[in-house]
This record gives sequence, structure tokens and C-alpha cells, in this order.
Amino acid sequence: MSKVPFVTKEQIEEIVKTYPTPFHIYDEKGIRENAEAVKEAFAWNKGFKEYFAVKANANPSLINILRECGCGCDCSSLTELMLSNAMGVAGEDIMFSSNETPAEEYEYANKIGAIINLDDFTHIEYLEKTIGKLPETLSCRYNPGGVFTISNGIMDNPGDAKYGFTTEQLFEGFKILKEKGVRNFGIHAFLASNTVTNDYYPILARQLFEVAVQLQKETGVNITFINLSGGVGIPYQPDQEGNDIHVIGEGVRKVFEEVLVPAGMGDIALYTEMGRFMMGPYGHLVTTAIHEKHTHKEYIGCDACAVNLMRPAIYGAYHHITVLGKEEETCDHKYDVVGSLCENCDKFAIDRMLPEIEIGDRLVIHDTGAHGFSMGYNYNGKLKSAELLLKEDGSVQLIRRAETPKDYFATLDCFDIYQKLDLN
Ligand SMILES: *Cc1c(COP(=O)(O)O)cnc(C)c1O
Repeated sequence: MSKVPFVTKEQIEEIVKTYPTPFHIYDEKGIRENAEAVKEAFAWNKGFKEYFAVKANANPSLINILRECGCGCDCSSLTELMLSNAMGVAGEDIMFSSNETPAEEYEYANKIGAIINLDDFTHIEYLEKTIGKLPETLSCRYNPGGVFTISNGIMDNPGDAKYGFTTEQLFEGFKILKEKGVRNFGIHAFLASNTVTNDYYPILARQLFEVAVQLQKETGVNITFINLSGGVGIPYQPDQEGNDIHVIGEGVRKVFEEVLVPAGMGDIALYTEMGRFMMGPYGHLVTTAIHEKHTHKEYIGCDACAVNLMRPAIYGAYHHITVLGKEEETCDHKYDVVGSLCENCDKFAIDRMLPEIEIGDRLVIHDTGAHGFSMGYNYNGKLKSAELLLKEDGSVQLIRRAETPKDYFATLDCFDIYQKLDLN
């Protein structure tokens, strides 16, 4: 078992005096070191930029740390664009990779000068109708269909995914866009999710680079960037070996030198849009055991539930759990660790072997930095938790307060009932 929390029981007991559980806590040091490693791994590519996928974690304090490390923002909705813009992320440092995009979102993206990444052929016309003259720089999302395989098997099923242009549409689309005055082109593809292998990006890169060479030949367009998007995974399981971003960077470089450089396209910039890899391991959901239940199974009831972390409930995803202060004890008790929603899928762990848990124990649920808080919702009228930042100097900063009933009821403020609610 190799998963060690970045906080100790002593630290958490101190923190809960000010901020009660549940909360997500993030590790600034880990975020920075990883972001620097990403930058180094791709430093061989002159225009390289990581556009952090804001949907993975939309906390401005965390996005700001990544910005300081040179990252831009990858947005997929109006509010994500608004946030990035309000944070002062400028123009082409914002990538807008959306799908089924409403007109007002295109309008806004265009207004703030974000790079628009079109998800579909029909959106060429839709975008033109919406904003008038097309921007000078545009990107298209590619979906070659079929299955995405690496040497050890099928990784994902792009043929079933709703995203992107087909190969034919991509060639046709680039021709049309060129005629309509677009000068700088980008190609984007996201073909597999949470890939825990160093081979994903290099294999994806080869596909995209080969298409880029063909596109340039057949349509004469000027391809200025290729966006490898997200999909680089993290080891959620304790016995899984994680990705090595340096090996990944070198793998992509090899393909770049093999395919693009001989075609005279060695000045293409590479972009990534990682979310999970940038933030996932650097977040913990900290929760307190508040009940134990002995029926047909042994249950531990926590003060967190699926609204704080949805992945186990919707994907059956594994998230490792550490009982703080009992790191060295044997895992000789089998538990379902559950939240309080009226949904039987609200289980952080099923049949998990853990040390004996007592009421009041603090549990760390690992790898909640990406697609954790941001996937939150309010089912059962449950409120979203606070988010805390463990800074490099060891101090703790509140970077989002917990929701209150007042927040929850705010959208009813146009009704009389709002006045009658006890909101103080
Ligand atoms: C979700 C998403 C990402 C980030 O994916 P991760 O797996 O978190 O790295 C990047 N780009 C697009 C378009 C996405 O939808």
C-alpha cells in the first residue's frame, strides 16, 4: 500500500477546530511540482502550453497556482469562460473546447478572444451566423471513430463518443474554413480517458501528426498547433504505477521528430488540456465517521456523501481511503463506507478492508483534486463543502466557504416562501 496522505492526523485535528468536516483540502506544493514537471517534459516544444481543464476543478485559487506555472485555461461553458476571463487569463490563453454549444457561449468566447475549438462540422455555419466574421485562429476536434488501442488492449471507444469531426468532415471543414478567411488552424482530439500508461499521448500524437501532414498537403492550410487534450490518468489504486510525464514528453517528441519535422512542420506548437493529471492526486476529501451500522453488512456512515464526490456513485470508481492516525494498523475489518443520500449508490467504498474505525475517526478519501468538488450537486438538499488550501509554508487557507442553506434557497428569492425560511 503506497498511498500516503499529504496531511497528518495532527494537522487535520488542528484544522477542524476552524473548518469542520467534510471539506476538500489541496496540496499547493504537489500541484506546483507536478505543473513544473509537465512544463519540463514538453520544454523541447517551443510553443508548448498546458490549458488546465477548468471543469476538473474550478477553484480560482488553484487555477491561479497553475497560471503562475504558465498554464492557460480550457473551458467548456459560459461560466468557466467568465471565471477565466475575470481572473485575467487573456485571450488565447483560453481554449474553448465545448460541444453542443449555445450561441451566447460562442459570442462570449469570441468577445474575450478565446481560441474556439469546434466540435462539429455544422458548427462552422452556426458559429459564422452567431458571430459574423470567423476569427483568424480556429481549431477543430477530430474523432477518427473505431476503437483506440495500445499494445496491451483497447483503451476506449471513440466510435461511440459524441464528440468531434469525422476524418472526411475534418478535411472538408478545413477547406471551407480556409475559404472563409481562417489563417491559423489547430487540431484537437480526446480519444481515451484516465489512461494510466505512458503510451497514450505518443500514440494519439502519431495519429494527429499524420492527419496534420495530410491536411496541410491536401488543403494548404497553416496548422499552427496540435492539442492532445486531456485523458492522461492517475493511479487511483494503491498498487497501480503512475504515469511518468517525462517519459510521455519524450515519447511525443520522438513521434514529432519522426512525422512533423520531416514534413517541414517542426514549428507546430503542442497544447494539452489535462485536468485529472494536474490536480487529481493533490486533493483529499476529509470526512468524519459519525455512525456505524451492523446489519447484513458492516457500515461506516460519514459526514460527506456523493454530492462531495460523485465518482464512486456514478462510475463505481475506486478512491483509496486512509483512516488518519491508523496508517500503520492492519486492515482487518471489511466495511462499506457510505454517505447519507437516499440512494444506495452513495458508497465511497464497498467491502473495503480497513483498520477498525471508531466514531470520530477522520477519513481521507484520496485523489479528489479533479472531478471531485466540481462534479458536486445538491441532491437531497445536501450542501457543498468548503475547499481548503494547504500552502507551501504549512498554513491553511479557506479558498471556498461551505454552502449554507441561504445559498441553497437563493434561487427561490422571487417567492414569498423565501422570506419565511429561517436563514440566519
Ligand atoms: C474533460 C476534458 C478534459 C480534461 O480531461 P482529463 O481527463 O481531466 O485530463 C480536457 N479537454 C476536454 C475537451 C474535456 O472534455
